[in-house]
Amino acid sequence: METSAPVRPSTDIRIDRVPVSRRRAVDLSNVAFGSVYSDHMLTLEFKEGKWGKPCVRPYGPLSLPPNISALQYGISVFEGLKAHRSPTGDALLFRPGDNARRLNRSAARLAMPAIPTSVFLDGLRALIDLDRGWIPAAGQGALYIRPSYFSTDESIRVRPAERYQFVIFTCPFGVYYSAPIEVLVTEKYVRAFPGGTGDVKPAGNYAAGLLADLEARDSGCASVMWLDAQNRRYVEECGVTNVFFVIDGKVVTPTLTGTILPGITRDSVCTLLREMGLDVVERLVSIDEIVDAGRAGRLAECFATGTAATVSYIKRIRYRDEDLLLPDVEDRVIGPAVRERLVGIMTGLTPDSHGWVEVV
Ligand SMILES: *Cc1c(COP(=O)(O)O)cnc(C)c1O
Repeated sequence: METSAPVRPSTDIRIDRVPVSRRRAVDLSNVAFGSVYSDHMLTLEFKEGKWGKPCVRPYGPLSLPPNISALQYGISVFEGLKAHRSPTGDALLFRPGDNARRLNRSAARLAMPAIPTSVFLDGLRALIDLDRGWIPAAGQGALYIRPSYFSTDESIRVRPAERYQFVIFTCPFGVYYSAPIEVLVTEKYVRAFPGGTGDVKPAGNYAAGLLADLEARDSGCASVMWLDAQNRRYVEECGVTNVFFVIDGKVVTPTLTGTILPGITRDSVCTLLREMGLDVVERLVSIDEIVDAGRAGRLAECFATGTAATVSYIKRIRYRDEDLLLPDVEDRVIGPAVRERLVGIMTGLTPDSHGWVEVV
């Protein structure tokens, strides 16, 4: 392993442990995503213009008044990342500094103060250190980590908030096998628009996508493929993941126009594909081009990338009244190969030459 030595936190953190861990009662390899939460959470408050002291405490409800502006106006942003257990038992984080920086980009867009990156990372390390027993064994799942940052102003005026809460909680899940999915290209709804919030992770983006998702499900698809707002022509994302196509042996993915979330998985996949000697082109990708390639049998692969499932495969794309069927996953080369490489690095099976993996 070429991962660096564990980093010692420099932030002063209060630790309030659970009297009795719930860990033994849980079979980690069998836990469904989001069904069980680890013993502890990190909390940190911002008030009177400054951050307080981070605290690792038992996971549980927060007591909040109903008039807080996070609830009224959606002043809330979040992140998602994972910890894996290496074959030697280490706890491994994947590119956590990128999540810390992206959280602050999201915060800035909602006029929220930045969280010092060192406080985010030291708090995260302290939490993972204490709850390391909740990371499933190597190859048997991962620990999903959810940093969440929202306003707690007791004010129903629409204005930037003055009080905030930052929380990190975690949940273990067993092997995440996601079967190849069918997606519906929607022309009725859009996820993002120029000048909006599509390139960051405010809570409200996800609420706004739910109806399209529901309608996709009603028509037998698992998710939505989003087009750009202005032309309803250029592919942007699939559900809450980035998307890649393989056409004529070349990999193409929508270029980051400002309405696409710059996924850390997307960036990692682009880097690895290029190292594998493949051409990865980031450009506008029109749905007409995808339809033409699909009809002509030149669309060899389509896959989606995001933290939860890493790489998931798309087997059918429905646009207007046409179904584009893609080859079976067994007959695909590029998606499965890059998935294996990436998962290998995340789980400590493969050396990390990029400085992506951090040992806690
Ligand atoms: C979080 C997210 C992604 C994936 O980002 P990762 O950093 O790879 O997890 C993609 N699209 C949207 C809309 C997202 O919210």
